[in-house]
Amino acid sequence: MGRTQRRRHHRSLLKATIKSVESDALHTLYSKLHSQGWRNDTQLSGCHFPATGRGLCSKKQHFVPGDRLITMPVECLISIFTLESDESFKALFNVEHFDEDARISFQALVACYLMYQQHESSEKADTNSAAYLNTLPANYTTPYFCTIPELQLLPEALLERTVAQNRTIRNYYLILETLLGSKHCPNCNQCYFSDIWTLTDFRRAYFAVNTRSVYVESRHLKPTKCHFQALIAGDTNLALAPFLDLFNHSDAVETSAELKRTSDGKSWEFVLTLVSAPSDSIKPYCELFISYGALPNLKLLTEYGFFLERNAHDYFEFSLLDIEHLIKHNKELNTQNYHRNIFKFIRDHNLCDQMFVNLADGCSHNLRVVLHLIFKQQSYFPNVLNQIAFGDANKFDDVQPELSYLITYKLHEYEHYTAALAQLPELSDSGIVARSYLLECMRYLSDFEAAHCDLKLTDFE
Ligand SMILES: [Zn+2]
Repeated sequence: MGRTQRRRHHRSLLKATIKSVESDALHTLYSKLHSQGWRNDTQLSGCHFPATGRGLCSKKQHFVPGDRLITMPVECLISIFTLESDESFKALFNVEHFDEDARISFQALVACYLMYQQHESSEKADTNSAAYLNTLPANYTTPYFCTIPELQLLPEALLERTVAQNRTIRNYYLILETLLGSKHCPNCNQCYFSDIWTLTDFRRAYFAVNTRSVYVESRHLKPTKCHFQALIAGDTNLALAPFLDLFNHSDAVETSAELKRTSDGKSWEFVLTLVSAPSDSIKPYCELFISYGALPNLKLLTEYGFFLERNAHDYFEFSLLDIEHLIKHNKELNTQNYHRNIFKFIRDHNLCDQMFVNLADGCSHNLRVVLHLIFKQQSYFPNVLNQIAFGDANKFDDVQPELSYLITYKLHEYEHYTAALAQLPELSDSGIVARSYLLECMRYLSDFEAAHCDLKLTDFE
């Protein structure tokens, strides 16, 4: 729930406005983590912040760049080490049945492990993950969980990613179902796939991992003989990090995450360090942020279910379809003919990738080239197009007013979507966040237009 409305760091947080969120679930988690060797050296505690919802602060310590924010023994994380150490979970997977054409990501395997732990903890009093599972949100606010009427009112860029996520998740679910099809829980004797875990459970578990995992260089955590090796496509460099996953993201801080040897040299610990922050020193009771990476809002929204207002790393991306739609809807552009060879050339040379506008830097090179090829030159022979596209870059500066038309077209499109979403009888949490995101995109495009598009010129044309 706390991830719904993350915004930028408010510096004027007063102690009085911060409510502690040390619920029973969090208290149980503290005890569990302490029993696994976590000492909470930096005196972190979970609080409710007006601007961001659930987050972390220290009640005692000031932080300056270079300070450790948190140090956590790897035993507290749910990593490849955890899965490889869990003999009964491993026993569900018969290595002989692994198929090199039907692999899953490590993320999907961790999601399966979460479902497994969920069922375990419903039957046994004290499992390893029970304390953690109780601190997970009941739902997630990525567009993936929008209702069907909401999905129908999302722009192509969002829908495309949501559809791709759905395809991936279903595919992994089917692979797991094939592998574990007949396995039964030894306690209740129910079949995991037909009686206990549903696709809905898997979706929720998948997004628990998607939204809450941290990057961990796993080579120190992986046994030399890894049971799951032949099942996993890609690396195993992620882990769920109980408690630590309460840190919110900010575009204003830089943080580093690394595995370090413990002082006795016997094990490893996960260390998060503050690299830079907007103020010299972060005071007690101020929310502590980490950086999930230099990510634009579209990525934050589709992967984590939130976005930042005036995100320093934001940009707005266009597709070739946007330009085709623009041509269809713009009276002036619509009167001309555009040879399909030009569009084919653009696709064949991937010029339609990286077509974006950035508030600070203006229009991307590829967007300029594409607008120039379509609107500013007459040829459709591939060899001539080639000379133009990969020739002198200066001649691509002439793409006004088409760039302005494109921005205006997009603003109208998003205005339509936000208005239509507001007309729905009710919005889900995902729908509310998605609609706010569209409004933020409109704010971004308007600011871009004011800074980079010569409005006078387009007005008079
Ligand atoms: Zn059972």
